[in-house]
Formats: sequence, structure tokens, C-alpha cells
Amino acid sequence: MLSSLASDVCWGLGAAAAVGLSVGANAYAAMWPSSQIFGCTLIAPPRPGELALTFDDGPNPAWTPQLLDILAQHNVRATFFMVGRYAEAEPVLTRFIADEGHLIGNHSWSHPNLALTAPSRVREELTRTKDTLEQITGKPVRFFRPPFGARRVDVLRTARALGMTPVLWNAMTSDWSEPAADRIANRLVAKIDALERRGRAANIVLHDGSHLDPAANRGPSVTGAGQILARYATTHRFVTLDAWAPAVRPI
Ligand SMILES: [Zn+2]
Repeated sequence: MLSSLASDVCWGLGAAAAVGLSVGANAYAAMWPSSQIFGCTLIAPPRPGELALTFDDGPNPAWTPQLLDILAQHNVRATFFMVGRYAEAEPVLTRFIADEGHLIGNHSWSHPNLALTAPSRVREELTRTKDTLEQITGKPVRFFRPPFGARRVDVLRTARALGMTPVLWNAMTSDWSEPAADRIANRLVAKIDALERRGRAANIVLHDGSHLDPAANRGPSVTGAGQILARYATTHRFVTLDAWAPAVRPI
């Protein structure tokens, strides 16, 4: 199985490949989800038919429980990349998510652009979040998604040094600003189906919270997630990201 995942595995590429790039190219690559020049990140393996639903910027006391109900109705587990300070404010909800069998990942403490953040603060953002999540859930945190997908070689190195695999995505739409759940779901369906035609699994991002405004409406994202679940529940396999973890080896 590992050999069939080889296209997702790379070693030591980041630092060497980054040398010589212009500032502009670096800035572009730092924000581009599929760019691997800053080191390997987990996106999705060549396993068509597998879908990972991931939710960023929670937990949110208004929206996350509704999402959990929908996931439970479909008996599906998802991955939640939590903002540390939100998890600290919602320990009961955070613990419940873990107890339901969902996977919890690290999305930093305060959601800064880590590509523009001093290394010492990057480490603090990641460490404080990891420690808080582990204290609340009693489970190790093994995955990290950089806010905005923004990264730098040392950001990914720090995440790995803390025992976390950096994760990006390959199926996202602007669900945070789209009021129509149908449009969110339809755009994601188009991406998921295109990935499947190319022989890829889908690593789908939706938002159950907002790093800017905890009172932001996430109803369309939650409803859109329900539509994705209803469409694929009987034909596809929903997985949490640890199912794909062998695709990435530590550098
Ligand atoms: Zn985020």
C-alpha cells in the first residue's frame, strides 16, 4: 500500500527546492494548497471513492453541535481543525467531539498567517493548542493545518517536531462567504467528482466556525455538509485523516 501512495511522499524537498525562488514565487507558493516546495504535506492519496470531510475554525457552540447531529445521522466521522482558544472556551463540546470518534487537529491558537509570524510565536501557537486539545480530549494531536494554508519551511518543521503531520486540502469553496448551501455543495461536488476522475481521494474543507467572528453564520456550511453526506454516503467511504497518515512520512 505504501508504494501506491508514493506520489504523496517526499523527503527533504522543502528547503532545497525553496532556494533560488524569487520573493514573489515564494509568496505565491506559500498560499497555494498543492505546492510542496515548503516540504511535504498531506492532501489526499490516490484512492478514488474516499472522502475526508474536514471542518476548520471551530469549535463553535452554535454550529458545531448541529453538524455533529448530521454526521451522527450518517454514522460518519470527520476531522475538526480547531482554533486553540475556541477549544479552551468550549471544553465540553471539544471533549464530546473526540468522544464521538471524530479526529481533532491543530489549527493554531489564534489563527494568524504563520508565514508572516516569528518562529518563536509559531511554536507557541502550535504548542499551546496541542497541549490544550490533548488535556481536554486525552488523545494525542497528530495533525496540523496552517491557517489560510499559509506556510514556511520552519512552520512545517515545527509542526513535525511536535509530532504533527501538516495537512492541506484539495476541495474547498468559499463557504465562509456563501449564503446558499446548494451552491456550496454543488461546487464541492464538482471538485470531488473531478478528483475522482483523476483517481484521487477528496480532502474537503468546510467551516463550522469563524476565526474573525464567533457569531458568524455557518448555517450554509452545515447544510452544505449535510448535502455532501446525503449524496455520497452510500457510494463513497468517508474517512478521518488518520486513515491516510501512512501517505506521509516524517522528514
Ligand atoms: Zn482557518
